[in-house]
Amino acid sequence: MFDELRDLYQEVILDHGKSPRNFRHLENATCLAHGNNPICGDMLMVYLMLDGDGRITDVAFQGEGCAISVASASMMTEILKGKTRDEAKRLYEGFHDMCTKDGFDLSGLGDFDEDAIDRLKMLSGVREFPIRVKCATLAWHTMQAAVDGEDNISTE
Ligand code: ZN
Repeated sequence: MFDELRDLYQEVILDHGKSPRNFRHLENATCLAHGNNPICGDMLMVYLMLDGDGRITDVAFQGEGCAISVASASMMTEILKGKTRDEAKRLYEGFHDMCTKDGFDLSGLGDFDEDAIDRLKMLSGVREFPIRVKCATLAWHTMQAAVDGEDNISTE
């Protein structure tokens, strides 16, 4: 990767880490879960509002964690709003594959916002750092647990 690109990626990740989007408590959340990554000390709460058709009408998170875990959660909330439970699951699996397998491309998973997909791809660099994979995927595991009706997950 070119150095300029790497800098750009870091800038976007740091921006989301410092100024996370949808960082708030969601009143009347229909599902929520608590995620814990003890290796790094990341702790997140993910809130979702699902309508009767299983569509995510709102999603938010709160908590404390490293820049990677917070940036990943922030980007996740941006892309999931308006998506169905099934689309969320597909993206969760795709994101996990991208963080753990070489050459996995997030594009083509469905009707997701392209810019938001491009931002998520910036987190693929964690693949080289197994400990960071847990930071990047924490919000996603937590979101999936919430949708599945579990209220706690831990990376341990
Ligand atoms: Zn972390």
